[in-house]
Amino acid sequence: MPADCISNMFCYDKGVLRELEQVYGGHGLRKFLEAIARPPTRYYIRVNVLRAEPLQLLDDMREKGLEVYSDEFLEEALWLPVRGPNNVRDTGCYVVVDKRAAESVMMGAHVYAPGVVRVDECAKPGAEVTVVSENGVLVANGVVEEGFSTALRVKRGLVVRNVRPLYSVPSLRDTEWSTRGLIYEQSISSMLVARVLDPEPGSIIVDMCAAPGGKTSHVYELVRGRARIIAIDHSASKTRRLRENLERLGHRGVEIIRMDARYADLELGKGVADYVVLDPPCTSLGVVPKIYDSKSLRDVRVSARYQRQFLRAAYGLLRSGGVLVYSTCTVTLSENEKNIRYAVEKLGFRVLEPPSTTRRFAKGIGFCSDCSIRVHPHVHGATGYFVAKLVKP
Ligand code: SAM
Repeated sequence: MPADCISNMFCYDKGVLRELEQVYGGHGLRKFLEAIARPPTRYYIRVNVLRAEPLQLLDDMREKGLEVYSDEFLEEALWLPVRGPNNVRDTGCYVVVDKRAAESVMMGAHVYAPGVVRVDECAKPGAEVTVVSENGVLVANGVVEEGFSTALRVKRGLVVRNVRPLYSVPSLRDTEWSTRGLIYEQSISSMLVARVLDPEPGSIIVDMCAAPGGKTSHVYELVRGRARIIAIDHSASKTRRLRENLERLGHRGVEIIRMDARYADLELGKGVADYVVLDPPCTSLGVVPKIYDSKSLRDVRVSARYQRQFLRAAYGLLRSGGVLVYSTCTVTLSENEKNIRYAVEKLGFRVLEPPSTTRRFAKGIGFCSDCSIRVHPHVHGATGYFVAKLVKP
């Protein structure tokens, strides 16, 4: 195990641990590290309120046998309890999968060819196998599919059907609710962003890092499609997914632009936007569940510097009086409160208080405690998140 690894799961160097300790202290840090290895306690979906009424959908899901509840604060949010950990049997016959696959297989996804790292000789069609991550976590029991060797050769298709994941929550992906665009699977933490933005119909809204579209589509629903929404992402494949998601939800008229959003104000013009959503790439330390992770202080610094470039462009894009919501799914001060301090002291933003409905979560730390919300995995049982609201004077 490399020197910086604190277990076989987390390799964070001293600088990252110091960043985490500044937020949680020593005791909290242990709790935080335990919590990010587990899934959230509730699996959230957002109801597309332009196509379905949340309480009717809740009844429909219950009639079909699902255990599902309404969120206490956001009427568009429903959740299903996540059960587990279940006892995954060590069959002695293994299919090893990469980090990304392991993190979804442990939640019930089947094993597809692109995520497979190694298949034991004993894994023949119909055999019961144990799916295991590269760091040795048993994530599911499954049955090898008939066409698995072809799937592996062409690197596409089903390899193992998951029969007993470490954690269980009913899969909604291929249900009619999903294919008909009635729901979008999204964490409650991520849903806070559009709610904090609280956009007005008739406005111009730019989502600078939009793919796969969770926040863009939520914003669209809040203004009931009555706004000019510009959704930017620099990745071709992710922009395609963004388009597919918006089509599935029936959200027409969103302008999708593939570009480097760090220069969006130069491309789209200064002062054009009433609202900006900025959800830039980050070190993702708050994402749950994690099968393993490795980060250095350098990653945090590079990420924080990159995020400041977007903040500068966001300032340029907004008109005077325009509102920015900045969010990350990470927990370091450098990528969150310190970036907000930079936005205020160096760029000229002013802070705003988020709506009271979002106050069931924690306040930000120190600077900007009143302008930001934090979701803590070990306290709130959800993805670690930071959301701040700013205005351009
Ligand atoms: N807001 C999205 C949602 O809720 O579904 C998630 C956004 S994800 C945290 C960050 C996104 O930023 C990725 O899709 C990535 O492709 C995009 N990105 C990274 N660098 C970028 C850049 N320079 N310009 C535009 N998009 C970028």
